[in-house]
Amino acid sequence: MSILKIAKLGHPVLLEQATAVKNIHQPFVKQIIDDMAQTMLDAKGIGLAAPQVHLSKQIIVFRTFEENESIENDETTTVKVTALINPKIKNITEETNNEWEGCLSIPGMLGLVKRFNKIEYEGLDVKGNVIKKQAEGLQARIIQHEYDHLMGILYISRLADNKAFGYAEEIEEYWKKKYEEK
Ligand code: ZN
Repeated sequence: MSILKIAKLGHPVLLEQATAVKNIHQPFVKQIIDDMAQTMLDAKGIGLAAPQVHLSKQIIVFRTFEENESIENDETTTVKVTALINPKIKNITEETNNEWEGCLSIPGMLGLVKRFNKIEYEGLDVKGNVIKKQAEGLQARIIQHEYDHLMGILYISRLADNKAFGYAEEIEEYWKKKYEEK
């Protein structure tokens, strides 16, 4: 396994629509998934899409949280990572929520992004089994963010408020408290 270089905002690969993986049994598929998982964990990310490692294919990996588990109790739980090939998602509610998001391709910055509360996602795992599940809250947010990468969409074009974007330390200082008060 190896840690891959992450494409940063401005690299055209991040704006391309990724193509479907035609034959998931090609050896590169398992290799790239292993490398993406390692790259994501190394960068302390919670999701990563193949275009972010300069590969314009429909593959995403993301941290999977069990019920009652959150990012905060990190040390006590084992990290689970799900990989999805050729994923599809649909919202199963019209309800949305706004939350602060970051992206490994836009390091150091946060933006307030509107996402659907609950989604259904479907895709193939590395063995070719169909995975079909529902997700809500943070988990749903992560998957919507990663799926967007496959469409060439970055969260900065989905800001809930176009002023609500900036360096993490300034957002912490001047925005998060304000939003929590509301
Ligand atoms: Zn991202």
